[in-house]
Parts: sequence; C-alpha cells; structure tokens
Amino acid sequence: MDPIPLVHASLGKQELAAVEEVFASEWTAGQGPRGKALEKELAERYGVADAVTLSSCAAALHLALLALGVGPGDEVIVADYTFPAPAHAARYVGAVPVFADARPDTGTVDPQAVADLIGPRTVGVIAVDTVGLPADYAELEALTGRHGLFLIEDAACAVGATYRGRPAGALAPIGALSFHGRKGITSGEGGALLAADPAIGADVRLRSSFGIGSIFDKSQTIGLPIPEFTEVGYNYKLSDIAAAILQVQLGRIEELLERRNAVAARYAELLGGEELLTLPHVPDDRTHAWQSYLVALDPGVDRAGVAAELRGQGIGCGHGTWASHTQPVYEAKQTCPVSADLFARQLAIPMHAELTVDQAERVSHALRTALRNHSVRRPSAVPATSTDSANQEGAS
Ligand SMILES: *Cc1c(COP(=O)(O)O)cnc(C)c1O
Repeated sequence: MDPIPLVHASLGKQELAAVEEVFASEWTAGQGPRGKALEKELAERYGVADAVTLSSCAAALHLALLALGVGPGDEVIVADYTFPAPAHAARYVGAVPVFADARPDTGTVDPQAVADLIGPRTVGVIAVDTVGLPADYAELEALTGRHGLFLIEDAACAVGATYRGRPAGALAPIGALSFHGRKGITSGEGGALLAADPAIGADVRLRSSFGIGSIFDKSQTIGLPIPEFTEVGYNYKLSDIAAAILQVQLGRIEELLERRNAVAARYAELLGGEELLTLPHVPDDRTHAWQSYLVALDPGVDRAGVAAELRGQGIGCGHGTWASHTQPVYEAKQTCPVSADLFARQLAIPMHAELTVDQAERVSHALRTALRNHSVRRPSAVPATSTDSANQEGAS
C-alpha cells in the first residue's frame, strides 16, 4: 500500500510559474519588488500597520526582541509546550526564558501559569498558537497590559486560524509567522513579522538587512546615494524567489485550510468515542489551522509501540511537539507538569492538505488496531490509575 506521509507541502504549477517570472526579472534577492508586494498584501490581509518578510519565524522572534530592547538580565515568559523557538529567541538576546505550563485541554499556554511567573525581571510574554490553535489572547492581553509587559504571538503554525473572529498572527501587538515546509503555507523556508506599531516594523526591517535600507530601492534612484550602516544588523531577508511563491500561497490559504478541515472532521468521526485516546479540543471562540493533528494516548498505551506499528505500515507519525523546559540546552530548574504529560502522551498522525479521506480512514483504522495491540489494559476494562508507563515513556 502507498505510504501516507505525516506532512506534505502543497506546492504546484502556480508556484512554479511565479518562480519562472522571478528568474526572468532583474531581482532575485530580498526586499525587491516581490517581497515589497508580499509585505503589502500581508499588512492588508492581517489589518496591521506593517509586515516584514523574513527568512524564518525564528528571525522574526529574534528581531522582535531586539526591537523591544530585551537583553541580559531580562526574563521572558514563554509557552512551554511548543517547538522551542520562543525560548531560543530569549537566549539569542541574552535574556532568560521562563517556561509557562499548558492548558491540559488545548495544549496552549495557561494564562494563570503566566500570571504566577511574573516577577520583577519579567519584561514580556511570547505566547504560541500550539500546532495551529490560538492561545487565550483576551486573558493574556489583560494580564500583560496590567503589568506593562509586551505580548508577542508566535503564530508559526496558525496561518488561517482565528480567535474571536480575528486572524491568528494579528492577535497581539507583534505576531510572527513561519513559512517553513511543514506549515500551512510555505516557501520551503521563510517567515514574517506583523506589527501594530510601524516603528517596530521599521526597526525589524532595518535589522533584517545588515542595518542598511533596501539595496533594491537604492538601485532605483537617480544619482549615487551611498547607503550607510546604522546598526549591526543581520541578513534575515526573504528572497524574492520565496516571496513570489508566497504570493501564490497567500491566495490559497482558504483552499488549503478547507482540505485540512475536512481531514480533521473525518478523523473526529472515525476516532470519536475511542476510549484509548483523546481528540484535539477546539474551544468555541476560535478555529484551528491544523498544522498538526495531535491525539493524546491513554497513559496505559505504549506510544513508541503504536508509532512503530504505524510506521511499519507506511503511515507517518511523530511525537507532536516539545515540553521546552525538558530540553537540555536550557538547563531549566522549573517543572511544567501538564506540558510534560502532553509531551509524553501525544501522537501526531498524518495531516496536510493533500491527504485524502480514504487515507484518513486507513490511518484511523490502523491507529485503533495499534492502540489495542499496545495497551497494557484491555479496552473496556477498569481504567488504569497509575501513570508510571507514561512517565517512563517520556524518555522515548
Ligand atoms: C515551526 C515553528 C517555529 C520555527 O519556524 P521557522 O520559520 O522554522 O523559524 C517557531 N515557532 C513555532 C511555534 C513553530 O512551530
């Protein structure tokens, strides 16, 4: 049987045609005509003052913290249950990441956990739209507002998601998007920063380009203006080749999201009622972008065994995301028990816009069978009370 990959980027003829046009043009590097057009389209779509296209979401987070003046001695509260880019960003600028635990039902950062961690050195919060589900921005905004802290939304996985009718990416004064190959829309690698404050956008754009303005702009002027370096900036620009791909992808968000939604709906039908797993929970006031589809396995199920059985049948799967504080690089002395529990029990099953309903059915059937083959208890028996096996599995 054909393999069913965990992820697959939806790139095709339209994107190729857009790339051909760039090849035929005079400008392939960053901050050229395509990049500028994409920035305008992003700012309009998201209703923000400025959008800066960048080489990655990690670059957006790094430059956001620099623009906000974060540095050594500062503490940044970051969502724990996520790809650990927010904590890395804090470390890039010499600040200390402080890890906030997750809500058990959604995996997004728990506003109460954030509140409990605010101290004299806290300068701000990086919330994450966990695998595509927006966090609790009403509570987070109230909290950060009350304490005079900045709030950044890491919407890397959430292109197309909404919270109370507003688009993910524009739910905080600063938003960071990723266009990595595993996200909702992609140019292979890429990212963007969305800013409500035009001064932040301008600062980030300058730092993304070595600390000088757009070389393309300079090349268009009459005369010979000599650009000056005003910052030790980075080279975090998005190429115009990638920007052209993203202009096409931006127009396909709804189409691609509709297909992911259909897969999620089919999984919910086929896996609903399965007592050995918990399906993703989406609160009524928000929508999911389904960057990943994560199910939580019963504590009595051997997750590594389930994964091996699925992979043996060509069905892609993975552990989902990370409990950041457990990663050796941070040497964190904290615990985030909810995040650690999700990290130990969640399983990512295939989710992308090219997945067919037939494939979703095959995945669901194989998963139900594998759960039974790797459960320490017989389904319908008395639920296990010990979580020992889940704890051991955290090492897998
Ligand atoms: C994937 C991801 C990132 C990293 O995005 P890049 O564009 O690869 O830098 C950052 N944050 C979260 C939450 C992610 O899932």
